Amino acid sequence: MYREILANNLLPSVRALKMGRGWVFQHDNDPKHTARATKEWLHKKHLKVLEWPSQSPDLNPIEHLWRELKVRIAQRQPRNLKDLEKVCMEEWAKIPAAVCANLVKTYRKLESANCGSSSSQDDEDVDGFVDLRSLPVDICERRPTCLRCCRPQKVCLCPFLPVHPLEISTCLYIVQHPAEESRALRTVPLLAACLPPGKCKVLVGRRFNKERNPELAAVCQDSRTLILYPGPDAQNLEELVQKQDRDQEDQDQDNLDRMGEQFVRAVEHNVIIIDGTWSQAKDMFLRNTLLHQPKQVQLSRSEQTSQYVIRSQPSNICLSTLECAAVTLSILERNEAIQEVLLKPLQALCSFQLQHGALVHHSKEHLIRHGMYDKQMPTNKRKIKRMENLITNQHICPR
Ligand SMILES: [Zn+2]
Repeated sequence: MYREILANNLLPSVRALKMGRGWVFQHDNDPKHTARATKEWLHKKHLKVLEWPSQSPDLNPIEHLWRELKVRIAQRQPRNLKDLEKVCMEEWAKIPAAVCANLVKTYRKLESANCGSSSSQDDEDVDGFVDLRSLPVDICERRPTCLRCCRPQKVCLCPFLPVHPLEISTCLYIVQHPAEESRALRTVPLLAACLPPGKCKVLVGRRFNKERNPELAAVCQDSRTLILYPGPDAQNLEELVQKQDRDQEDQDQDNLDRMGEQFVRAVEHNVIIIDGTWSQAKDMFLRNTLLHQPKQVQLSRSEQTSQYVIRSQPSNICLSTLECAAVTLSILERNEAIQEVLLKPLQALCSFQLQHGALVHHSKEHLIRHGMYDKQMPTNKRKIKRMENLITNQHICPR
């Protein structure tokens, strides 16, 4: 969205204002400004961006204008989105041109005042928008993030990532619910940082179809594609792989008998994993018929418990997306070490968070079993059933 705004407006504005080549683009440290995708886009377009310190006072006059608009809109109390849009337009049009002119005129003086070199004469001139300046301004507290692991630089987890991306033949497609993208403690960026870029693709959205997602549609039609989803028809992944290995051995023996040579080739799978809470994942699966095409697989209900202890899992056997991917890859690649490598950054993330005051989140199942579940028990029959299922491990879920 932000990139779209920039693409449609930035260069046309530069041309309209006849700014030539010597200009520098300025935005602050708002998360969408500092997002990796935005940085990459700006870099690709060779746009020079002014370095902006975090927690700096707002020197940008437009921020004061936004504030003016916000105050005006709040007074009108819009009731819905449509209303809000209308009020925005009306109030924007009503802001006197003199307010903008004043903001621009006093910009230099405000800047020098901020640098501590203001004279009393300057102060008088700045009075023009003293009212605006006294309004509380949102200070962006976003810390600079590491481009590889997407964690704040101070708590970068790169030392726990493999030096080189893991060599794998499986291709992962993470179909991610949009709410997951904005969580602070996400595990998918860590997963992506451990794998070659072409082997871990993240698609964010709720709805997927052939028109908008031709690549995903093609992958779903591919017979080698598996989807990690514990539906009633889901097959145990380990058993599936063992069967494939047996078939392969038979086939190899046939080839050997017939032609005297041996072919060894394991099937290279694509795996789709839905990233979201259990109910989001279920909803995304049910609404996207595309996802019904691949063979459904699930992980065995072994003694695995989630190591992602700082986030509540509904059941003891539920795993985070990163853990699901780690187990899946180690099974498909017939390589236990993969799981170890992928879980290292997760363990580091959790131990760091725990050292800094995070609490261990027991699963809902654990809480219910040990009489520690302090929320009101549901009255709805379906919900009670779901809770019973949790305790009796009737259903395994993706997280
Ligand atoms: Zn890092």
